[in-house]
Amino acid sequence: MRWRRQQASQRYSQKMRGQRRFEGLSDLHLHSLRSDGTEPPAGVVQAAYQHGVRTMALTDHDTTTGWAEAAEATGSLGMTLLPGMELSAAQGWRSVHVLAYLFDPDHAELRGEMDRIREDRIGRAARIVGNIGRDHDITWDDVLAHTDPGATVGRPHIADALVSRGLAHDRSAAFDGILHPRAGYYEPHYAPSVQRAVSLLVAAGGVPIIAHPSPSGRDRMMSIAMMEELIELGLAGFEVDHRENTEAGKVVLRRMAAAHDLIMTGSSDYHGLGKPNQPAENTTTDVMVQRIIERGTGTAPVFA
Ligand code: AMP
Ligand code: FE
Ligand code: FE
Ligand code: ZN
Repeated sequence: MRWRRQQASQRYSQKMRGQRRFEGLSDLHLHSLRSDGTEPPAGVVQAAYQHGVRTMALTDHDTTTGWAEAAEATGSLGMTLLPGMELSAAQGWRSVHVLAYLFDPDHAELRGEMDRIREDRIGRAARIVGNIGRDHDITWDDVLAHTDPGATVGRPHIADALVSRGLAHDRSAAFDGILHPRAGYYEPHYAPSVQRAVSLLVAAGGVPIIAHPSPSGRDRMMSIAMMEELIELGLAGFEVDHRENTEAGKVVLRRMAAAHDLIMTGSSDYHGLGKPNQPAENTTTDVMVQRIIERGTGTAPVFA
């Protein structure tokens, strides 16, 4: 009995020793120009650092190509990097974004989905530009001029082309105008079901967390039943503190997280100059960062 207790307490102190004290703020949702941010990964790291962030995740849409550059930058600044991604998924007509941390970027089936989404996003963007081109002076070359080679293409790149053509004042105006689905030019892109997205991320050792789960409007919160189905499949938590979540939605999310012992994060969704969101405008607690690190098995966090 005594031996057992001793062992248990030894294990406990080992765990405590392994536990890191995090200095500074944690922001686990930022984009670079490997998708629709406006800065290279090292620039995003620099911006986060300047806002007091010391633990961050680079979460470009459907790609991991920014990880190496981000890791080099966080290392040189004494920061911690959680390799991450924001995977596009769908629930019926609703577009759902799944943040994922510490998954194996070489998991074959997950890679297959990422490649398929990215490929289809190109044709879809070209279709949207074709639709807009019926009424306005814009070409696919305009979009390419605003897209980093190899980047995950999205409407933000089309927005930049519209701005340069004088058809919108900035990205936000483009989204409220020509790029809004009700403007009539919108086209959807391929995305796996949210159930498949969560299952694949779990299979790849990752920690899946629903991004901005309760926005207002078209993509508003999924049903409770659907979220419970996702929790059964291994969903780890919700990004509760995000500027696009409604206050009423946050109340529901916090209640669900407490009932199912889920992880709750807060983050900026920084896109460089592409959105008003600033690094660390919402942050994640050290306890929640630690829980993500303990749960992720597909790739290691990068400590300085
Ligand atoms: P897409 O996935 O191609 O349909 O484009 C959606 C992306 O555009 C999201 O990832 C958002 O980050 C970005 N986005 C949405 N609204 C805005 C906005 N008002 N200004 C800038 N970027 C936006
Ligand atoms: Fe984005
Ligand atoms: Fe998103
Ligand atoms: Zn995002």
